[in-house]
Amino acid sequence: MTIILSETEICQRFNVTPEQLAKADRVIDLKTGKVFYQVSSQTDLTKEPYEVRYNSLFKRLTCTCPAGNPPINERTGEPLYAPRNCWHKRAASAAAFEYRQQENIQARKEAEEAARKAEEESQARAYASDKEWQKAEREAEARERRNRRYLANDPAPFSLLK
Ligand SMILES: [Zn+2]
Repeated sequence: MTIILSETEICQRFNVTPEQLAKADRVIDLKTGKVFYQVSSQTDLTKEPYEVRYNSLFKRLTCTCPAGNPPINERTGEPLYAPRNCWHKRAASAAAFEYRQQENIQARKEAEEAARKAEEESQARAYASDKEWQKAEREAEARERRNRRYLANDPAPFSLLK
């Protein structure tokens, strides 16, 4: 049994506030089919959202915000500060975790539903394999066929009363 985390627990785990989590939107890159997250600024709504992506080569998250991409000192060619682990990455991770958890819950529901259906079908099969039941079924079908023939030969409705 997998433990399902509440949103509060997810926020604690990834060290973000619910407001920060809500800023991360899942996006599918139509060109590559890859998923990334757009995280909009908490303070400036007019700013373009930053993009958080997974770099599979370095097994790291990247973010387009200034904290993750320090400007380069033109004289020395060195970054002005070490790239910081911004909250955008944490929010995107929390959102991805929440999404995957939701997917797992859905998959489990579907598996349970499939198992329940299979169980029902197996019960019905066991029931229908009963000899008496099969005999009754065959008789009912034969009756039905006779009725249909009767109606086909003599379709006038009042003839049913004979
Ligand atoms: Zn960032």
